[in-house]
Amino acid sequence: MEQQKRASLKNEIVSLPSPEDLPAPPKIKPLKKGAAAPRILSAAEEAGIADEFDGMMLERKLSLFASRKTELLVACGFDEDPYTSGAEAVLRESAEDVAEGLWLAAKACGAKERLVAASSRREAHRFAACCTGTAAVAAGNRYPARTLLMQKLRRGGKKAEWIGVQACAALGAAVRGECRNETVVTVAGDGVRRWGNFRVRIGTPVGDVLAAGKPEKRVCLVAVGSSVTGRTVTDLSLPVTAATRCVIALKRPPRVPAHPCVGCGRCARACPAGVLPWLVHRELEGGSPEALRLFHVEDCVGCGACHTVCPSGIDLMAAVRRAAGLKEGRDLHETE
Ligand code: SF4
Ligand code: SF4
Repeated sequence: MEQQKRASLKNEIVSLPSPEDLPAPPKIKPLKKGAAAPRILSAAEEAGIADEFDGMMLERKLSLFASRKTELLVACGFDEDPYTSGAEAVLRESAEDVAEGLWLAAKACGAKERLVAASSRREAHRFAACCTGTAAVAAGNRYPARTLLMQKLRRGGKKAEWIGVQACAALGAAVRGECRNETVVTVAGDGVRRWGNFRVRIGTPVGDVLAAGKPEKRVCLVAVGSSVTGRTVTDLSLPVTAATRCVIALKRPPRVPAHPCVGCGRCARACPAGVLPWLVHRELEGGSPEALRLFHVEDCVGCGACHTVCPSGIDLMAAVRRAAGLKEGRDLHETE
C-alpha cells in the first residue's frame, strides 16, 4: 500500500488551471488570529470551506462539535485506502496552515486539546518538527484506521472529534484573506501514466483531472472517491466536489467473483462498529430478515472494511446497508 502511495507522493502537488467558465473565488475579509469563535465560524462559512472526507460544511461541523462539548479536535492527515494520498501531501506541504487552521477550529468548537494524525511515525515527526506547538501521532495500519484511532482516543469517555487537514489548511489560509475554493485530488491506477496529487478548483470536470494523469488509450473504469468506498463514473463532465479525493483509472475493471462464505470471521474482526456482517449476509440470503432487528446494523459507519477483507468477495457493506434499511422500515425490495 505504501509503495502505491509513494508513486503519487513522489512529486509536489501540481496546481491545474481553473476552467474558464468557473467564477473567480470570492474575496473574504482576513480572519484575525485572535478572532472569537463566532467570527471563525462565519469566516469558514464565507470561505465556503467543506471537509474533504465527508463533504460537510466546516462551519456546520464545528457548530455540531461545540454542541457536543468536544474536548479534543483531531486533524486527519492520512488517507486509509491504497491509492489516495492527498491528505499526506497537504500535511507535508501546508503544515503551518494546517496547524493554524486546527488551532482556529479548536477554538471555534471549544476544544482545549488539538492533535494531528499522520499516516506514519515519520510523517508525524516531520510535522512536529515544523509545527512545534501541535502534537502529532501516527495512525495505525489496520483499516479503517481513522475509526479505530478515534475509538482509541475516545476511550475513557473523552469527547474527541475529527476534521480533514485540507479543511484545516483552508481555514488557516483565511487568516491571509485567501479563499481556497479548491481541493487536492489524487490521480492513480494502472490506466494513467502520471500518478500524482493535483490541486483543482471545485467544479472542474473529472475528465480534466483524469487528463492531468495522462490516461492510457484504453481505460475501462474510472472511479471517483476512495478506492474502498468510491463510485464508478461514466460521465467525465461531472464536477469535482470538495469531497472528491481520488480519481482512479484502471485498464480493466477488477473482477471479484463472489463465493460462499467460508466462515473465517475476518469481516467481524475488521468491523469497527461491532456488526457481524457474515451473520447479516446469511440472514438476508436465508430470507428471514425479521431476525435482523437483533443486530446493530444501524451502527455501520460505511467504512467498507468488511467487504475489503472478505476472501469470498461478498459485498458485505451492501448487505449491512440493506439490513439497516429494513430496520428503518423500508421493505426488502426498496433496499435492493
Ligand atoms: S462497512 Fe459497516 S459493517 Fe462493514 S466493517 Fe464498516 S462499519 Fe462494519
Ligand atoms: S470475511 Fe467473508 S468469508 Fe469470512 S466470515 Fe466474513 S463473509 Fe464469511
